Amino acid sequence: MPDLKEGVVLQARSGRHRVEAGDEVVICDVRGRLKREQLTTDLIATGDRVLWQPIRPGSGVVEEVLPRETQLSRRRPGQIEAEQVIVANPDQAVFIFSVTEPRPNLRMLDRLLVLAENNDLPAFVCANKIDLLEDEGEAGELFGVYEEIGYPVLYTSAKTGQGIDALRQHLLGNLTVLSGPSGVGKTSLLNAVQPHLGLATQQISDATGKGRHTTVGVRLWPLEGGGYVADTPGLREAGLWDIEPEELAWHFVEFRPYLSDCRFSTCTHTHEPGCAVKTAVEAGEISELRYDSYQRMLVGE
Ligand code: GDP
Ligand code: ZN
Repeated sequence: MPDLKEGVVLQARSGRHRVEAGDEVVICDVRGRLKREQLTTDLIATGDRVLWQPIRPGSGVVEEVLPRETQLSRRRPGQIEAEQVIVANPDQAVFIFSVTEPRPNLRMLDRLLVLAENNDLPAFVCANKIDLLEDEGEAGELFGVYEEIGYPVLYTSAKTGQGIDALRQHLLGNLTVLSGPSGVGKTSLLNAVQPHLGLATQQISDATGKGRHTTVGVRLWPLEGGGYVADTPGLREAGLWDIEPEELAWHFVEFRPYLSDCRFSTCTHTHEPGCAVKTAVEAGEISELRYDSYQRMLVGE
């Protein structure tokens, strides 16, 4: 086919996908023949790499969606066999919390980490507003456990600039899914990484509002120097939690070495005798807070 160009879908919107190709952003529909293919997944999602053909300046037609290497997805509500892709081809996730004001909701962080594990997405944590602590050691008391179990933690301040270079380095060249509660400084951090970046994402979150549809409005924001961030505020509320109970323990990464040592292969690590996970909690090898998160998630709290 002549003149096919490669591009990245910055925003998937039925019939009017925004595709970045080099320095330009074009609006693309999808070739009808693609739409007719039987699919159990979204035909085109934010983050997809596509081959498209220009039609007029500023617009084109997607001829082919290149295979996804990774994805952040959920089961389409009410349908067992269908999935909804929230972001295609993510490289990693960053979960942003503040060390104080507001106090970090570490149970929410645990849930987000499970979500990342369930999607095979490497994750790191950003602990912001470090300037508000007189003693930085306090931050380690909150977030140190995550470093111990293998998640990098960046301690940052959008106010003083601490950790911003490190955050930028983590983001450059990657497609990063970003989430965290409001008020922790996500907008300020993105503005510190790249002028106006946070402002742009903020307007979108306000426009799409809260709730189920928020994830549908996910957009990619290009980084100068390469890479993208996808702000996904809706991850917190979205029905992404249909993780099988027997898989949940596996997504608490520090439980993994113990799972094969439980007396019963069907162990839920709650009340069973001979549970290696519980023994590890009692021995201080697994954090009680993380174990508490596990128990809550197991009963759907
Ligand atoms: P968002 O809701 O996560 O996007 O958070 P914002 O970026 O809007 O920040 C919420 C509030 O926290 C604002 O008043 C910011 O000025 C403040 N803030 C953000 N980052 C920092 C920081 O690193 N240190 C301090 N002291 N305040 C911050
Ligand atoms: Zn067990």
